[in-house]
Amino acid sequence: MLRQFPGTHIAALAGLTALIGVTLLVSQGSNQSQTSKTFDVAPVSPVAQNSQTATQAEQYSHAGMVSPARTLAYAAPPDLQSLLGVNLENVPEPQISAADAEQDASGEGIREEALEWQRFTIERGDSLSSLFTDAGLSHQEMYRVLNGEGKPDKLSRLRAGREIEFGFDDNGKLSMVVLHNSRTTKLKAVRQDKGFHTYEEMREPKVELAYATGDIQTSYILAANRAGLGTKVRNQLSRIFGWRVDFSRDLRKGDRFGVLYEKQYLDGEMIGHGRILAATFTNKGETYSAALYTDSEGNSDYYTPQGESLRKAFLRTPLQYQRVSSHFDMNRRHPILNRVRPHEGTDFAASPGTPVKASGDGRVTYVGRDGGYGKTVRIDHGNEVSTVYSHLRSYKRGLRRGETVQQGEVIAYVGMSGLATGPHLHYEYRVSGQPRNPLHVSLPDADPIPEDRMAEFQAQTNPRLARLSEEDNSFQIALAEE
Ligand SMILES: [Zn+2]
Repeated sequence: MLRQFPGTHIAALAGLTALIGVTLLVSQGSNQSQTSKTFDVAPVSPVAQNSQTATQAEQYSHAGMVSPARTLAYAAPPDLQSLLGVNLENVPEPQISAADAEQDASGEGIREEALEWQRFTIERGDSLSSLFTDAGLSHQEMYRVLNGEGKPDKLSRLRAGREIEFGFDDNGKLSMVVLHNSRTTKLKAVRQDKGFHTYEEMREPKVELAYATGDIQTSYILAANRAGLGTKVRNQLSRIFGWRVDFSRDLRKGDRFGVLYEKQYLDGEMIGHGRILAATFTNKGETYSAALYTDSEGNSDYYTPQGESLRKAFLRTPLQYQRVSSHFDMNRRHPILNRVRPHEGTDFAASPGTPVKASGDGRVTYVGRDGGYGKTVRIDHGNEVSTVYSHLRSYKRGLRRGETVQQGEVIAYVGMSGLATGPHLHYEYRVSGQPRNPLHVSLPDADPIPEDRMAEFQAQTNPRLARLSEEDNSFQIALAEE
C-alpha cells in the first residue's frame, strides 16, 4: 500500500530530455550567426568557497555556440549577484522559503524523508474526500485537517493533473498532506500536537544568466527562435526596442540583437525565462542599447546607458485594434449627422470588449457619458497633454475621477455607446486643449533618470552592459576565427 514517490527520477529524466532538446536545437541552429549560452554557477575562487556564495560564483558553459567543438576563452565576470541585482547570500540553498511566516512553528519534529508516502494524480471528478478515501483515510481524519490552523481551505482547491501526497509515520498515522500546486508552490498540512497546520511553501528557482545573439535573415521571430530565445524573452526584447524600431515595418536583413537574460532552474531543469538584464538591437546600421534598472521603490524599466528612457511617455495606440475606421480630420462630414463636423481624434475599429489602455501616466478627470460620444474617459497627463477615450461599452470596475493611472493600465472596454455606427474607440490626443492627430503627433520621451539617481543607476546598469558587450565581443572574435 505504501509507495516511495519517484519524484527525483522523474526530475532527472525530464532534465535529460530537456538537455537533449537543447542540444538538438543548438545543432540545428549552429548556423554561424546564432548562439546562446548559459552561465552555470559554480565555485571559482577560494574566497567564494568560504561563503554562501560558493556555488554562485560564475563559471560558464555553452548551450550552443558557433562550432560545437570550440570553447570560447572567457574571463571571470563580476559577481552574479550584482548583475542580477539581488543579494544571493540571503537566498538559502536549496532555496525553500515559506510564504507563510508561521511556517517555523509547523512541521517541527517531522522529517519528510522518514515518512512513507502515497502519491495520487488528481483526476477530473476527484474531491478531497475521495482522495482521502483512496489513501485509506477516514472522513474524520480529513475534517481534522480541514479544521486545523492556517489555510486548510486551500486544500479543497483541487485541479486535475496536479498531485497530492499523503505522508504516514511508522505507526501508519497521517503526518502530512502535500498538495503540489505548481513546480514552485505547494500546500502542506502538517500534524502538530493540537491538530494540523496548513501553510504554503514556495521554492525560489535558481537563476542563471544566459546570452544569445542572432541576426535577421528573413524574420525577427525566426532569428529569435534560432537563437533559442523562447516566446517570453523574444516578446520582451521587441517590447523594449519597439519604441524605437517598428518591428512590423522597419526590420532589415542583417539587423542583429544581443541579449543577456535570466533562465530559471529547479532541480537542474530549466523551468522558465526571467528578465532581460541588458540588450542591444542594431537596425539599419544604428545600434540601440538598453539595460534594466530598478529604483528604490521597486519600479523597473529599461534605459539607454546614458539614463534616457527607451519608452515614449505615450502609447501611439491605446488598444489592439483591427483597423483605423476614421482618421483625424478637421473638415470631416459626420457619418451620422451628415454635416461638416471636425473629427478631433482617430477611430480604431475593434471587437466589443477589447481592453482600452491609458496611453500615458496621468490622472482621470472625467468618467461618464458625453452626448454623442457616449461613455467617455478623459485623462490629464500633465505638461498640457490630455487624452480622451469614447464610445466605450464599460469602464474598468471602480474607475473614478481623480484616480491616477499608469501607461498601459486598462481603463475601459470598447463598445459603441453614443452615436456610433459600429464598435470602435474614438481616441483624442490634445495639447493645451487643442486636438492633434494621435497617429502623427510627436510623442514626448518618458522621463530620464533624475540627476540625483545617476550614480546609483550606473552602479546597477554598467556591470550588465559591460557583461553584454563582453559576450558580444567574444562572439565576434569566435566568428572571425571561424
Ligand atoms: Zn471618432
